[in-house]
Order: sequence, then structure tokens, then C-alpha cells
Amino acid sequence: MLNFTLSDQQEELRQTARKFALERVLPIAAYYDEMDETPVEILEQAFEAGIASGEIPVKYGGRGAGILDASLVTEEISAACPGIATSVFDNSLGMEPLLLCKNEALKEKYLPEFAKSFYLISFATSEPTMGSDVAGMRCKATDKGDHYVLNGTKYWVTNGGIADYYSIFATVDANEKHKGICAFFVKRDWEGVRVGKHIPKLGQRNSNTAAVHFDNVRVPKDHMLAPPGEGFILAMQTFSRTRPVIGAFAVGAARSAMEFALDYAKKRRAFGSKLTDFQAIQFKIAEMYQKVETSRLMVWKAAWEADNGIDPTITASITKFYSTEAAMEVANEALQIFGGYGYTRFFPVEKLLRYMRVYPIYEGTSEIQRMVVSGHVINSYKPVMPPLEDLPMHRDRHPDEIGVSGKPETDAWRCRICGYVHYGEAAPEECPYCFFPDSAFKKVAGD
Ligand SMILES: Cc1cc2nc3c(=O)[nH]c(=O)nc-3n(C[C@H](O)[C@H](O)[C@H](O)COP(=O)(O)OP(=O)(O)OC[C@H]3O[C@@H](n4cnc5c(N)ncnc54)[C@H](O)[C@@H]3O)c2cc1C
Repeated sequence: MLNFTLSDQQEELRQTARKFALERVLPIAAYYDEMDETPVEILEQAFEAGIASGEIPVKYGGRGAGILDASLVTEEISAACPGIATSVFDNSLGMEPLLLCKNEALKEKYLPEFAKSFYLISFATSEPTMGSDVAGMRCKATDKGDHYVLNGTKYWVTNGGIADYYSIFATVDANEKHKGICAFFVKRDWEGVRVGKHIPKLGQRNSNTAAVHFDNVRVPKDHMLAPPGEGFILAMQTFSRTRPVIGAFAVGAARSAMEFALDYAKKRRAFGSKLTDFQAIQFKIAEMYQKVETSRLMVWKAAWEADNGIDPTITASITKFYSTEAAMEVANEALQIFGGYGYTRFFPVEKLLRYMRVYPIYEGTSEIQRMVVSGHVINSYKPVMPPLEDLPMHRDRHPDEIGVSGKPETDAWRCRICGYVHYGEAAPEECPYCFFPDSAFKKVAGD
């Protein structure tokens, strides 16, 4: 049964997030953009309001929220500020490897504490010299018996400069690629952990991004999230569950861009008419709304799959590159509707555009999503239609001659090169259209 109705709890969660977004996030977002600073107190308030770190299972004292819940919350916060939304949701990204790992003792040690009190947990696969090529990481983990020693640098770590804990992916041997990758849960105040300066960016300025450097950091083995050989899979499983939410970021930001443009277009006059009287503007609005709505449908489907035990990898990838690129188009058109004012910092669309520009980049670029999806379609997709060479396309035979079997009464031969169908007991010596010999023909009807 198909049902797009949210449960009462989900609707309540959405309203709580919306209220928080409008009352707490929206009024302060521009200031922190200007300051290039993360409002940590807002992240803490989001936790206290019950809209952050919701996915900790009930058995560890959490709320057991699903990916759809996270998507609902994220759309609302991102609508108010895509940067603060990144920093709020980063806890879920940072915690996901802990939730997915097999280390039950580690879960019991930390998850009840994370459910009770506010902590920031970051996620790090990327490094200064690699991002997309996760298997190419160099941060080194050396086995020392009862512990590992970490050496190397992680880059682009969201909340990296302000986090309490990190899910760190490293390798025991960079030459081993996927097979060498492992993962650890690391405390920021352990000896040898250093954080870099907040990286200056085009957008997402109020979301902290920093490098985290490891200099002979001793990590006890009981803090292992994944042993060598299992870290790469853990990272990919994490992305499959967090990418739908990146789509929700895009929906929220695009929705706001559309709403602001709509408001402006209803009031601004040109050539004696309101902008909304011009069909060129009406069509832009229709397409903006279409993109917001279709993106949300994708997000909900991917989230639903993740919440219902269906591998969401492909839908999550489709969602990510569709919705993040659609959002860019929406914001760009919104800015166009604002004319010159859209280009100023007195109106909100330029910030939305700057902030959402990272969506087709982080958590796997659009190019990487296209690789994932094309790989699936080319190698695993099961077509419904018969192969072209078996296609029952009989242009030269009346349907009565073919009957219910879909096959003509006489033998039929299809040229595998040009598609011509020949009727008769044998294939022709050569194809009258492409001149290929009879070996190019395949029998498609007859005994
Ligand atoms: C604001 C921000 C926050 C981030 N937060 C985090 C975080 O919290 N944790 C974390 O681990 N990382 C984080 N990242 C890093 C992000 O995930 C990477 O930037 C992203 O994965 C791309 O990696 P890269 O920048 O190294 O680009 P590269 O991998 O060097 O790619 C450069 C370009 O080449 C393309 N390309 C690469 N390989 C191929 C290929 N095989 N075929 C076709 N095109 C290809 C890419 O799509 C891209 O366009 C963050 C980044 C930003 C900007």
C-alpha cells in the first residue's frame, strides 16, 4: 500500500523543527554567516528541543528516530539556514558508523550518554589529498597489540574544530586500498589530536569545517568501529543512510528560495504589472515548485527504504544528485526573479545559493553519484522488455496473422545489425538493408 501521510508523531516533529527553524535559526543565520562562526549554542538548543541526534535507538535511551524523521527535521532547518542545518545534522553523520558497527560494548559506552547530553560528533573520511576516492586514504593506523596508533590528517571535517568525538576512517596499508581501511571512535582530547583553523568558504560559513590531525594518537582497540577490510563498507553504508538527508537539505533550501522569490514577484512591479502577471515569471515559479516537490518525493522514498530495511544505496544516490542539482536551479531562478536585488546581501537568496553550492560536492559529488547509478543500471538493472534482437516487431504482418502468441505463422528472422525482419523458412543470404550475411540473422519466430 502506498501512503504519503505522515504519522501524528512525524507531523509533530516537523512542526517542532519548523518552529525552531523560524524562531531560533532564521534570525541569527545571517549574522553568523557574516562572522564566519558556528553558533554552538543553537546546536545545543536543537539537541534540547529534540530535533538533533534523534536516531539513537530506544534501548540506549534515545528516540529511535528514522531517516524519514531526520529528513523532515532537516528540511525545516535547512529552509532557515543550510549551514546551521549541516552542523546540526553532522551529529547524525558522525554517529552513524557507531550505530551501524558491530562493537556492542562501544555502543553501550557512548550512546546512552549521547542520548542524555549534548555532544558534537564528527565524521571523517576525506583528507587533504583525497575525497571522492575513499579507498585512496592515507591516514595510517598501526596495530600495536592492544591498541592502534593513528598518524595523518583528515580534512573538511564538519564541526571538526568544535567536536567532542570523531568517527575516523584510516588505513593499515594505503597500498591495500579498500582492504586496508578500518575505522575508530576517537575523543578529541586524546593526546596527539590537533584541530586546524576553520576553513574559509564560499558558503556554509556558519558551519565549522576544519582539519583534524593525528600525531601518534593511541586508540584502544575497544574503540574500533571497523577492523581492517570492513571500514570501507562501513563508510559506504553510512553514506547510503545519510545521503537521503542531503536531499532534504536541498529541498529545504530550494523551498525557501522559491518562497522568497514568490513573495518578491507578487509585490514587485515592472512595465505597469506585477512580476507574477508575466508568463515568463509564472513558468519559472511552476518549475521551481515542480523541482521542490519532485525532490521531496525522492527524499521520502530513499528515507522510507532506509527505514524499512531495503538497501537505499541507489535511490539515495539518485536523490542526492537530482535534488541538489534541482535546488541549484531553483535558487538560480529565484535570484533571477529578484533582479539586481537578488545579487545583494540585503536579500536572502544569494546566501541560499552560496550555501547550497556545496550540496553537489559533499557526501559524494554529483559525478560520484552518477557513477554509482550508472554502474547499477548497466550491470544490475533487470529490464522488462525483451532484448532488441528478440523484439516481436512485425511491421510487415497484420496482427491477425500473428495472433495471441505474438508470433507470425511463418518463420521470422531479425537482422541483429539493422533490425530488418525477414519472413521465410531460412534467413536471406544477405540483409537487403545493411548487406550483412545470413549469420547476422536470428530466428525470432517459428519452430
Ligand atoms: C563544506 C564541506 C563540508 C564537508 N564535510 C565533510 C565531513 O564532515 N567529513 C568528510 O569526510 N568530508 C567532508 N567534506 C569533504 C567532501 O566529502 C569532499 O570534498 C567530496 O567528497 C569531494 O572530494 P574532493 O573535494 O577531494 O574532490 P576530488 O575527489 O578531488 O574530486 C574533484 C573533482 O573531480 C571529480 N571526480 C573525482 N573522481 C572522479 C571520477 N572517477 N570520475 C569523474 N569525476 C571524478 C569530482 O566529482 C570533483 O568534481 C566536506 C566538504 C565541504 C566542502
